[in-house]
Amino acid sequence: MARLYEGPWRCDRCQGQILSPEDGWVEWLTTLDGQCWGLKLVHSASYWLRQESNHRCQYKESSESGRLVQDLPLAEFVGYDGLIRFLDIVSEGRLPLTEILQMIQRIHIPGYDSAHPYFAEMESNGYISRRMNEGLYFMEQIEIVLDSIEEETT
Ligand SMILES: [Zn+2]
Repeated sequence: MARLYEGPWRCDRCQGQILSPEDGWVEWLTTLDGQCWGLKLVHSASYWLRQESNHRCQYKESSESGRLVQDLPLAEFVGYDGLIRFLDIVSEGRLPLTEILQMIQRIHIPGYDSAHPYFAEMESNGYISRRMNEGLYFMEQIEIVLDSIEEETT
């Protein structure tokens, strides 16, 4: 059976690379009444432990301000079952749809995670044009963005 994308990804907190599902963590915030927001992909605590560092990329739990952290290992979101887990979260409807759609693409679509910080700029410069709803891009468009980033850095 063909395998789905297996990384690397970029950490939302330190911007470093997450090279394998075991090094990553998916987290979001929730209030007691069930509102969710702030979906992030970050390094797992076990990644930093292996680097023998005290640094942590995950949200700090602070229940005093009325927000709770919900999280799962990145490994739970990769592969076919990971995609289905995302669809389960979509069907719950508690996380903002734009956040969840972006995270599905970041985790599952090759190149999307590297390209997504540049989509808005590339659109306004006319390198790519809007063909679907905001935040959704075809592989061909992702490749145009990646090629132009590469040209700028070489
Ligand atoms: Zn990190």
